Amino acid sequence: MLLTVAVLFIALFQVAGLGAVPALIGFVVVACAVLIREANLPGTGEAARNADRLMPAIVDRAVEAVVSDLPHPTIVLTPESIVVAFNESTQEVTPAILRGEPISFALRVPNVLEAIRAVAASSEMRRIEFPQRVPTDRWWEATIAPLVLPGGAAADRHLILLALRDLTPLRRVEEIRADFVANASHELRTPLASLSGFIETLQGPARNDPASRDRFLAIMKEQATRMARLIDDLLSLSRIEQKVHIQPDTTADLVTIVHEVADGLSPLAQERDVEVRITDRARSLDVLGDRDELIRVFENLIENALKYGASGKRIDITMAREPATGQARDAIVSVRDYGPGIAPEHLPRLTERFYRVDIGESRAQGGTGLGLALVKHILNRHRGRLMIESTPGSGANFSVRLPLSRGGRAVHILT
Ligand code: ADP
Repeated sequence: MLLTVAVLFIALFQVAGLGAVPALIGFVVVACAVLIREANLPGTGEAARNADRLMPAIVDRAVEAVVSDLPHPTIVLTPESIVVAFNESTQEVTPAILRGEPISFALRVPNVLEAIRAVAASSEMRRIEFPQRVPTDRWWEATIAPLVLPGGAAADRHLILLALRDLTPLRRVEEIRADFVANASHELRTPLASLSGFIETLQGPARNDPASRDRFLAIMKEQATRMARLIDDLLSLSRIEQKVHIQPDTTADLVTIVHEVADGLSPLAQERDVEVRITDRARSLDVLGDRDELIRVFENLIENALKYGASGKRIDITMAREPATGQARDAIVSVRDYGPGIAPEHLPRLTERFYRVDIGESRAQGGTGLGLALVKHILNRHRGRLMIESTPGSGANFSVRLPLSRGGRAVHILT
């Protein structure tokens, strides 16, 4: 019997992902229970006679005790596919599962049922991946392995172990990566195709046409700049992702940064005929942060307001601490424009890579679709948040909230 329990735990350790320590503890607990039960039986001779009758029931209970504490959905079946034991998490996958009933009543996946039959016949382990549509879209990996529990005086107990692993998070990451590569390639291919086209034209029909040559070279320069900007954004995104869990340890003042960024963008504001108003409600707002990355955040937000909200002719940038009085904890910087605004259905997706409300307009404005994704990643690294509010027709408000540095300079309230 002890051998039975040992074999069971080794199988769960290898197939169902039970850790070595829980396996050892489980073995000791179940072994003690079995020994106590054996000791209570009237005599060894009688125990041996009763063994064949008692063994399956005792083994099934031991199996049930072991399976119940496993983290992943795990089911133990007879070779005829009748459910012997299962744990609580199994009910998330197959809510209708019942002990003593065929597994096919609860798990209607032909490939898995076929694999269970094959394992019963061949005693060879099988692995199968299958999708689940209801209640939510999920991907599972089923490992089906034979489990032979030596019966000692009684006959061996042949069972089948079915362990399930949720592959959904892995699949999602794979999908996101594939989408990202497809998007990045597409974004690069478009300007590249345009460059190749113009090169061919310059080598052929426009070879001796100075006016066309100058016009085409100007477009080619614009396309090359677009490619460079895209590559630059992609590299920045990957660099920030790599250090997303490392919190910056230098202090940066948001008031200085925002003024510098606004000054740097004043030629664009003039070009777009937009007035930029800055309201400082604090003389300084020190946060623990990487200066260059924070510059990037406000460059993106102010540039977006100038590009997409230019029709409102005005941008308001407000800097404050919150709460306004007492022990302030956060710095708030909001960039508000009075342009066309953004429809509510787009708001939750704006920080996705390559997501744009209007692809044509974004491209025309020299956008890469990565700006707000960069902002989100930088703020995550700084334990900050981005809030976007918009009323279509009245403009958009992008607010950045960052924790103030405690060790930094004292914050002086001006208004
Ligand atoms: P892009 O490089 O296209 O500007 P972003 O990630 O910075 O990429 O912005 C994503 C999209 O969000 C933009 O293409 C635009 O459609 C929308 N958007 C961003 N800021 C504003 C704004 N202030 N007003 C209206 N739409 C905006």
